[in-house]
Amino acid sequence: MAESRRFKLYSKLPVWLQNVSCSIAGLKMRRERFGPTFRKFLASLQESEWWSLAELKNYQDERLRFVIAYAYKNVPFYREVMDERKLIPADIRTAEDLPKLPILTKNILRDRAADLISRAIPPKKMTIGHTGGTTGKSLTLYYDKDSIPMFWAAGWRQRMRFGLALNDEYAGFAGRNVVPLNVMAPPFWRRNLPLHQTYISCHHMTQKNMPILARYLQKRKITYYVGYPSVIYLFSQYLIETGQQLPHPPKVIYNVAETLLPHQRRSMQEAFGPDCHITDQYGASEYVVNISACQMDRFHVDMEYGVSEFVPLVNMPSNVRRIVGTGLWNLAMPLIRYDIGDIATLPEDPSEECSCGRKLPMVDKIDGRIESYIITPDGRQAGRLDFLFKDSPGIEEAQLIQSELKSVTIKIVKNDKYHAKDEEKLLADLKTYLGPVIRFDLEYVDEIPRTANGKFRQIVSTLFKDQQALD
Ligand SMILES: [Zn+2]
Repeated sequence: MAESRRFKLYSKLPVWLQNVSCSIAGLKMRRERFGPTFRKFLASLQESEWWSLAELKNYQDERLRFVIAYAYKNVPFYREVMDERKLIPADIRTAEDLPKLPILTKNILRDRAADLISRAIPPKKMTIGHTGGTTGKSLTLYYDKDSIPMFWAAGWRQRMRFGLALNDEYAGFAGRNVVPLNVMAPPFWRRNLPLHQTYISCHHMTQKNMPILARYLQKRKITYYVGYPSVIYLFSQYLIETGQQLPHPPKVIYNVAETLLPHQRRSMQEAFGPDCHITDQYGASEYVVNISACQMDRFHVDMEYGVSEFVPLVNMPSNVRRIVGTGLWNLAMPLIRYDIGDIATLPEDPSEECSCGRKLPMVDKIDGRIESYIITPDGRQAGRLDFLFKDSPGIEEAQLIQSELKSVTIKIVKNDKYHAKDEEKLLADLKTYLGPVIRFDLEYVDEIPRTANGKFRQIVSTLFKDQQALD
């Protein structure tokens, strides 16, 4: 049944039947994600995270050789690409040989999807997924049955670093349409019992509904939260502003899918107390890379999961890199040297070791989407501009949009604390920070639209559109 038709039927069900329906879907997810293969992968990952770098590298290269040979034999796109370059699998022995192959862009993945699918796996045995499409276009992806538990095992290795267990209750704050958009009355959440999940609809987290959500979460004993930091932040801010505390605050906040900004982390810490551990994860539905924080709040690249290359960018400090990933587990659609379109900052000192003891390579921070930068006419690329707004209590939310080099529009959602002097200060700060050449247009709006799956983007730039295809 088509997804849209299924959702239409779901929307018409009473709430209790929607809960049943979520739980039935949860049973399928539990089977797909958390079966015996998951347990095998998780045990192996929990062991290998303590290996030496040489051991990790050997393991990674061995798995890479397997994937390359598999792709050459079974995936028409890779047979073509390697034949054209007169390469055979034996030419790619280690991760250092990967640059012999071209970078796979999102556009190529979209155009050549049919040729990127393995001929050795019957279509019936594949699971179809879609990327969120933060840039507006969604991609269709194919997964084999082992790659799904591997994805979850990598995620769970991180959760277990913070003492979480599979059957802990959690609340999900993200963009799935579990509560139909036209629903105006509570509950604005649905239960998925097999996964121990309460799914909170971020589309319904408005100022009007926040007291209802807070009352509900006051009553529940939920071990941890998972979700977009911008959404969990809305809730933590609400608690702070109304002077409320939860009798059972979450032990861990597991932030995913967006860059966790410093002011969001501070707000969560204040709202949920000093014992709550706030952590951050970076992954991709293309299954090519996973970067996870340890208890020291440092990011480690999960080498057993994929080969991550950090490719230098033009006009950027040498440790600011674009993330290119090769997945080591999804044979249904092997993606080799896939350009995710995200940027990471590597540590200044590459020999730095983490005090947690893991030798998995470190990343200083994930800067997010390449479209999430403002480029200044003097060639600087500025990301993370939240500091420009954080001292203005009159600004609820702001988004910067750059479609031309010398012009930036700032959309602002203001409240009654906003005064003319805030506008002056903001314009002055923008000029100081981004330079006098750019023209800034302020636009006051009632709300800032989210992406199709509910993500908030602070910076939207269309200037990078063409750079994405560069090697
Ligand atoms: Zn560490």
